[in-house]
Amino acid sequence: MEKLNELKQQLCDMGLQLLNTGLTYGTCGNISTRIPQQKKLIITPSGIPYPLVTPDDLVIVSFDNNPQGKQKPSLETPLHLAIYKKRDDLGAIIHTHSRYALAVSAVKIGVPVFIDEIFSHIGGDIAVVPYALPGSEELAENTIKKLEDKNAVLLRNHGAVCCGTNLQDAFQTAEAVETICHIYILSTILGDIKTLPDEGKEFQRALFDKKKFG
Ligand SMILES: [Zn+2]
Repeated sequence: MEKLNELKQQLCDMGLQLLNTGLTYGTCGNISTRIPQQKKLIITPSGIPYPLVTPDDLVIVSFDNNPQGKQKPSLETPLHLAIYKKRDDLGAIIHTHSRYALAVSAVKIGVPVFIDEIFSHIGGDIAVVPYALPGSEELAENTIKKLEDKNAVLLRNHGAVCCGTNLQDAFQTAEAVETICHIYILSTILGDIKTLPDEGKEFQRALFDKKKFG
């Protein structure tokens, strides 16, 4: 019970952290964390501005999509559930509508491996998930297909899905995605992107795997 309350507080605090760092605004996006040893997650409610969300407003949802709570769970709950069910290694998911990620998601087919840092938090290129309606099962299915074993994807015309082992780890992924998308936009303005050679990709991916899997 104490652990659950702690997770709920961390989730509320993360909403403010996202606002304070400019990674979200208004009621955009959503945050969830897995409840350890249970087939359940805790997720932010639908339509409540982050500064007003209290631990009591958070919704617990079982993996068969059964919500418990006084508020409605986020519209994107199916997407969060699909990722946790597929990826045992992930403990938290942050979905943002951050500006540079959103700009890339509206134009590009993905962010290639063009700087070393893309491996540190993402594990490879950042794919763009084909468009499907927000909240749909189709969007959830498209997302897990494109996420593969990496930590982030962009949703076409919509935003970013950023994952981690816990909330702070997912936050670092979200910050990295936004920074990388910003640099990507600057690079495309400068000219043709030079992607990493294969040996660079292999070297960086090995470092990522070592950090993630030990
Ligand atoms: Zn969204």
